[in-house]
Parts: sequence; C-alpha cells; structure tokens
Amino acid sequence: MALRIVIGLTVTVIALAVAGRRLSWLYRLGTSGQPAPERIEALRRNPARGARTEATEVFGQRKLLQWTVPGAAHFLTFWGFTILLLTIIEGYGDLFSPTFAIPLIGHWAFVGFLEDLVAVGVLVGLAIFTVIRLRENPKREGRRSRFSGSHTGAAWLVLALIFLVIATLLIYRGAQRNTGHFPYPHGAFASQIVGNWLAPLGRGTNLAIETTFILAQLAIVMGFLILVTYSKHLHIFLAPVNVLFSRRPNGLRGLEPMRSGGKVLDFEEADPDTDVFGIGKVEDLSWKGMLDLATCTECGRCQSQCPAWATGKPLSPKMLILDLRDHAFAKAPYLLAGSAEARAALPESVRQEAERPLVGPVADGGVIDPDVLWSCTNCGACVHECPVDIEHIDHIAGMRRHQVLIESEFPAEAAGMLKNLENKGDPWGMGEAKRAEWMDGLDFDVPVVDGAIGDDVEYLFWVGCAGALEDRARKTTRAIAQLLHTAGVSFAVLGPAETCTGDPARRMGNEFVFSMLAQQNIETLNEAKVRTIVASCPHCFNTLAHEYPQLGGNYEVIHHTQLLSKLVAEGRLTPVTPVEEKITYHDPCFLGRHNRVFTPPRQIMEQVPGVRAQEMHRCRERGFCCGAGGARMWMEERIGKRINAERIEEALGTDPDTISTGCPFCLVMLGDAISQKKSSGEAKASLEVVDVAQLLARSVATAAGPGPTPSGDPSSPAETP
Ligand code: SF4
Ligand code: SF4
Repeated sequence: MALRIVIGLTVTVIALAVAGRRLSWLYRLGTSGQPAPERIEALRRNPARGARTEATEVFGQRKLLQWTVPGAAHFLTFWGFTILLLTIIEGYGDLFSPTFAIPLIGHWAFVGFLEDLVAVGVLVGLAIFTVIRLRENPKREGRRSRFSGSHTGAAWLVLALIFLVIATLLIYRGAQRNTGHFPYPHGAFASQIVGNWLAPLGRGTNLAIETTFILAQLAIVMGFLILVTYSKHLHIFLAPVNVLFSRRPNGLRGLEPMRSGGKVLDFEEADPDTDVFGIGKVEDLSWKGMLDLATCTECGRCQSQCPAWATGKPLSPKMLILDLRDHAFAKAPYLLAGSAEARAALPESVRQEAERPLVGPVADGGVIDPDVLWSCTNCGACVHECPVDIEHIDHIAGMRRHQVLIESEFPAEAAGMLKNLENKGDPWGMGEAKRAEWMDGLDFDVPVVDGAIGDDVEYLFWVGCAGALEDRARKTTRAIAQLLHTAGVSFAVLGPAETCTGDPARRMGNEFVFSMLAQQNIETLNEAKVRTIVASCPHCFNTLAHEYPQLGGNYEVIHHTQLLSKLVAEGRLTPVTPVEEKITYHDPCFLGRHNRVFTPPRQIMEQVPGVRAQEMHRCRERGFCCGAGGARMWMEERIGKRINAERIEEALGTDPDTISTGCPFCLVMLGDAISQKKSSGEAKASLEVVDVAQLLARSVATAAGPGPTPSGDPSSPAETP
C-alpha cells in the first residue's frame, strides 16, 4: 500500500512540475505580446455573452459539429474525458483506500454506468479518428489532405495514449470487481464484461492487476498531461480561453483598428520609432494573437476551405499560424531574456532566429513568404471554420499593414490603385466628375444630396466606385435605382461627393489611406444627417456597417438584396415576366460569410416566375470566393490556378443558363472567367453573370410595362482592371 502511494504521488508531482513549468513559460511568452485591453473590456461589459460562448462553442462543440463525423468523434472524446475526470479522482482515492468511493456520489449505479458509457464512447471516437486519419493520409493525398503540413506523428501518439488511458481504466475496474473494491456493484456494464474475463485468474492475480493498472493509468494520464503542454493538444487547456476572448460575433466583418500598446493609433501623433505599426515582429502580436498561435489544433479545417490553397497558392491559413507559432517558440528565449547581456549570452541559433524577418522570402530566412501574405482574399473561410476561433485575417492584415506602412513592400501592381485612391478617391483614378454618369438616360431623376438629406428621404443609396464607374456594375446600379423608383422608395445619392469607402486600401494594409477616405466620407454623411444607407457593394456595406463606427460614423446599413427582397415581400415590387432559366447563385464572401446575408438574394430569385434555382456544392457559409477580396482585385494572380476559373467550373457543373450574384466585384471576376470559358468552348455563348437586382428588374412590371432591362452606358470609358 505504502509503495503504491509513493509511486503514484512521485509520478504525479514530477508530471505536475514539468507541465507547470511549461505552462508558466507559455504564459510569460504570451504576455510578452502587446496588450489587448479591448478584449478584457468586451468581456467585462458583457459577461453573459462570454458564458453563452463557452456553453455553445466549448461545451456544445458547435463549430466542430459543423463537420458531422469528425465533430461527433470529438464530441464523444471531449465529453468522455470531462466525465472521466471522476475516474481519476477514484484512482487517486484507491491509492489510499481500496474501498474508496467519491463522497456524495458513493456507489450510485448511474455514475458507474455513465463512466463506462463515456469510456466506450471515447473508444468509438478513437476508431473514427483513426479511420479519418488513414483516409486523409497526407502522404497519399498530398495538398488535398487537410492534415498536409500537420504534425501527424504527434497526433498518432496522442491517439495511442488516449487508447491506453481507456484500456488501463477498464482493466483495473474489471479487476476491482473481482477484488470487491469496485465502487459500483451495478450499472458499470463495460467493467463488468472485463471483470468476467479476468475472474478466472483468481483474487490474488486480480489484486495485482488492480494495483498495477491503477498505477499504469495514473502514469499514462500524467504522461498525457506533459505531452499536452508540449504539443498541439495544448488546445485542451487553451481553447476555452481563446474562445472566451475572441472577437464577437466572430473574427469576420470589419477589421480592427491599428493599435499600439493597446491604444488605437493616432496617425497624427504616431512615431514609427516607438509605436507598433502593424505586425513587423512576432512580439507585435497582442497576447490574444499569441494565444491564437498556441491554441491551433492543426486540424486543417481552415486549410481545406481556403481558396488560395485550393488553387495551388503557397498560402495555407493553418501553415501560416504554425509557422508563426514555431517562430515564436524558437524566439521565446530571446523575448524572455531580461537584458541585453542575457540576450547576448543566448545560443547562436536563438539569436539567428530572433533576426529572421517576419515577412520575407523563405529562401532568405523569412518566416512568412510575401507570396503567402499577399495570396489571401480575406474571404473568411478559415475564420468561419476554425473550431477554436483563431483570427487569421487579423494577423494577415497586421502583417500587411507593417509591410505597406513601414517597409513599403507590397505587390507593385497595387501601387496604382493606392495612388488613385489617394488622389482621385476611386481605385481607377477616374475622379468625381464621372460618378454621376450612370444616371444618364434614366427616365426619372435621382436626387443628389446637397446639404442635409430631407426627412422624406428613406435611404441614402451608396453607389460605390464600381457601381458608379465600372460598366458591368453600372447595370446593377441602374437596375437598383429603377426598382427603387418603381417601388416608390424615396432615396438619394451622394453623387460626386461620394468617394471610395477605403476598403481596398484597408485590406491592402494601407490604414493611412483608409482613414483619410473614411473620415472624408463620414464627414459628408454626418453633414447630410444620413441615417439609413442601402449599399450595392458588399465591401462598401461591410465597411460602412462595421468599420466606420470605429471613426464615429454610425448608420443603419443594409444591402440592396435585403431591401429588394423586403419590397417584393411587401408587394411594392411584383415580378411578373417569367425568366425561364436555370440559375445558380454565387454567394459573395463579404455579403454571405462575413455578414450572413444568405436568404434575401435567394428569396428574390424564388419570386421571379420561371427561375429554376440550382445551388452549387459550395454555397452559403461554405461558398467559394471569386478571388477579388482582400484587395486581390488589384493584384496579379501569378501562382496556381485562377480562383475565378475554379469557381466558374463549379458553376458550370450545374449547367446554368445564368449565374447570379450580389456583388460588383464577383460580377467582374466571374464575368472574366466566363469569357475565357466561352473562348475555349467550355461555356455556352448565351451564359452570363448578372446581379440579382438585374434579374428582378427583368421581371418587374413598371408603369411603362413589364420587365425593362436597365442597361449600362455604352459610352462609359470604364474598364475592368
Ligand atoms: S481569408 Fe480566405 S484566402 Fe485568406 S487565408 Fe483565410 S481562407 Fe485563405
Ligand atoms: S487555425 Fe483553426 S482550423 Fe486551422 S488548423 Fe488551426 S485549429 Fe484548425
């Protein structure tokens, strides 16, 4: 008895010391990052939301269950281990008293049954994980496997350890049944079965088995504890914390403002020598960013949905996080050294790691290759999928900000766009005089705001740069205006006073140009006393709704598909002319995944007589990007397959007559891909991509008769970049 107490406690104390030392090191590394007081403040202001998040994301495993089979396996394992904590208490109790039973629970048969049930559940979960890992073996599947690039050896080791935890548990409980030490004479069905197998060995042997396997189980649990703190299984401890401090409702929608030392950066006072400008070194990440790195489970869900990865680009959101994590861990002794002398005394390898540029060609020692950084479309698929709420886009934006603002290193072809934004207020440099041309030829007047907007004006129609200046998008703008006029909605536009919202600049990393444009627009909107905005571009919609409040611009913002769908539902617009076509709808990322507007465009299509809607395989939350977001619209796509070509091939798989969407940039990207498919004979000549508003306008009756199709202005000089 005394010996097993000594062995059991010695193993435990050593394991706790090793794990505790590692956790303390991780804590010091995490807190060497920048402050993030806004995360603590958000939780302090709304603790109920934090509790709800823990309940749904951690205990309910909501995001994991979006992937039904692996989600169910994880659910079984998570709840299995949570409930099996009781058996660890019982194991330690048994060290001191073989007839130990947990106070209050005692010999309650239900608890014995539950413990055995979840132990079997964990075994089922393990079997599922094993099959999944065998089927998605990265050695065979290559890039297609979501585990490609993950540490699969450690994952197999953990699966083996979990199996040993359950196996030793059931064996010692079975032996306990035969020695009379088992706390649950009834209910523990699996222990009963194992006990029946061991019974013929006699009581003496069963006593030895009981002691040996209790000690073995405690040793394995302690070994598992140490492995957890040194592996991706850290997420067992860190995921609940990371989820608690993640942005709500998620890390999508707007980007965060630039912060230095926890305070929002004021460009007029900022000093590049003392302030943090984006993420130029790993320690420029906030502690929440550091926590993200340590929490990644290497599950590869993000990678499997990333359009850049799917089309052969070097960007994998998982590998981006893992590369940052490995660098942070390797640089940690440097970051945690208390003085210059201590740093100078570090091994050469650590000092070399500390000197690696965070962004730079990998061949030159860079941690994140520029081709990785600039491949991101900000589509949000990674953030949406991540079961532990890692905020990939924030980290990518942070690194882009540093590259643009401090290093002046970014794809050269985007320089023209930034210059045009700065000088002319639109990405094409066409200037304010052209912004009202889309109205030419309309058979009604569109009021242009001059001074304060009238009380009788319900909506400020935010046209957007593409909507005002790009040929194909102008057709959408005219269709929306026509429909609003037909429905008797009172609206006005800013006309030449509107400038770019700044979205492309912000997504590129040029926060300076973004804030300049945003402040100008906010001034205009506030002077006009605008309350409600309807935007036709999801990027404008997202920026106006979620980023302008950071600068004092607070408006109610809706997308045109939301308004048009409402007008149809209210009977203010009546689609009558049949459109006898098979149509597949493409979800724009900044409308769908970022802002969860999935239904209104589909409702509009449902109301148009004759339309046969056919969903693509990747739709709604899992919609596949067109390739234009994250300012990719203004960058060359030199690596891998074009993202718009990949998307169009999926659309062609539904054999559509028309492809519909709700974004001017998707319209352009998909339109370009269709043109290429037509010239190669892979798409029928009549195939076209239209905005849902154009589709509705074709069908709606007007005073002049049914269904005119507003057309673009053929004299427009606008060209797609
Ligand atoms: S935002 Fe989209 S493109 Fe960027 S890393 Fe995530 S999934 Fe990939
Ligand atoms: S970032 Fe999230 S989704 Fe991607 S591998 Fe890590 S845990 Fe999985």
